[in-house]
Amino acid sequence: MADADLVILGGGSGGYACALRASELGMSVILIDKDKLGGTCLHRGCIPTKALLHAAEVADTARESEQFGVNATLHGIDMNKVNEYRDGVVGRLYKGLQGLVKSRNVQFIEGAGRLVGPKTIEVNGTQYTGKNIVLATGSYARSLPGLEISGRIMTSDQALNLDYIPQRVIVLGGGVIGVEFASVWKSFGSEVTIIEGLPHLVPNEDEAVSKQLERAFRKRGINFSVGTRFASATQDDSGVHVSLEDGKSFDADLLLVAVGRGPNASGMGFEEQGIAMERGWVLVDERLRTNVEGVFAVGDITPGLQLAHRGFQHGIFVAEELAGLRPVVIADVNIPKVTYCEPEVASVGVTEAQARAEHGDNIATYEYNLGGNGKSQILGTAGFIKLVQIKDGPVVGIHMVGSRMGEQIGEAQLIVNWEAHPEDVAVLIHAHPTQNEAMGEAHLALAGKPLHAHA
Ligand SMILES: Cc1cc2nc3c(=O)[nH]c(=O)nc-3n(C[C@H](O)[C@H](O)[C@H](O)COP(=O)(O)OP(=O)(O)OC[C@H]3O[C@@H](n4cnc5c(N)ncnc54)[C@H](O)[C@@H]3O)c2cc1C
Repeated sequence: MADADLVILGGGSGGYACALRASELGMSVILIDKDKLGGTCLHRGCIPTKALLHAAEVADTARESEQFGVNATLHGIDMNKVNEYRDGVVGRLYKGLQGLVKSRNVQFIEGAGRLVGPKTIEVNGTQYTGKNIVLATGSYARSLPGLEISGRIMTSDQALNLDYIPQRVIVLGGGVIGVEFASVWKSFGSEVTIIEGLPHLVPNEDEAVSKQLERAFRKRGINFSVGTRFASATQDDSGVHVSLEDGKSFDADLLLVAVGRGPNASGMGFEEQGIAMERGWVLVDERLRTNVEGVFAVGDITPGLQLAHRGFQHGIFVAEELAGLRPVVIADVNIPKVTYCEPEVASVGVTEAQARAEHGDNIATYEYNLGGNGKSQILGTAGFIKLVQIKDGPVVGIHMVGSRMGEQIGEAQLIVNWEAHPEDVAVLIHAHPTQNEAMGEAHLALAGKPLHAHA
């Protein structure tokens, strides 16, 4: 007999969202985690990094205050206090989440779990059998072959907990995590160099956005090398020494390895139970079913975008699927993405290059420059909103760069997911003066009636 309707392995974004929704739908739920409820996002990812980024913004505001006629002086950064503030934020959310899980009658089991039967997970010698199983064991920070994580060479896990500001730091990897840490450290006063093997920073974004971010980082004095691959790194008492394949070398106090995250799915019995996997990822179909009947997988262990809100959505999806609600499949391409460096990058849908590859010349694009947006002028930020449209059809991609542009992703994702045409958005009113107006202006222009923009 089953111990619960649903047994979930992993209490991160994917696992706990599934637990909450399943219990809301009347299922009995056992949720297992070997560490703290909330997973990577709450304890080692989204929340603590965004707290650091906010402290970084405060530092920049103080440093640049004179430009607004305010005479403030930045005396320094007290990392212990910054960490205290960060821990306070995480701690309050953690407490709230624990209360929430308890209040929904989810049985939380602490301990490392292992799949010992297709529907059974063993934790500390006790077996829990579910009518259905959800695997949600998340991801870990990867390194490169031969690059050992120790001492001055670290991943985001260690970098988040530094109690000092490195004078010079090298960030290996110009993706989301790399540019966010680079941005924080620069604001805190470090000399920062990013090394990215691909031709651009944030290489998964539309190329125009990458180029604008590079301009902005250059202006901020963040150094970067793109297009040449990392060769090796050594460390000694004086620091880390990094060489690239073209022979260039860099020295710093520490090296952050931000080259991506791998699935945390091995050694837990998945293979033994016949779960189909590829290069460590758990394979699922679009309804998040593994090949074993009654076993689902959600979040970072499945191939695709590694984002907390994708995990939430996956978790909710599986709970609703089990309740017979036939939830709508959400494709990765239409999941909103935000990179919270300064300036921020935000996007949803396809890039211009992806749209062109599929539709050839049957696309239209428009870039609305934030220079024409009152609120962006007030903030003193540069950037743009770029739209990608199927000619005479819907907007299929929105790409943004500029301070606070992450806040615009809400409307952007509605436009793309609701397959709105520029004319549909052009008739809607955007409040003045907000950065949100830039979204309206971009659509007005693409609909052939630009207001604060040249045709
Ligand atoms: C530095 C950093 C910044 C990030 N910033 C953002 C951001 O701003 N926005 C965003 O959307 N995403 C961000 N992410 C990504 C986000 O954190 C992940 O996409 C999200 O946490 C994935 O959720 P998950 O449930 O799949 O896995 P996880 O959150 O990793 O949870 C997996 C859980 O499973 C548990 N577990 C693993 N193995 C076992 C076992 N054998 N037994 C029991 N329990 C086990 C783990 O302890 C963990 O709690 C960031 C990640 C990092 C590292």
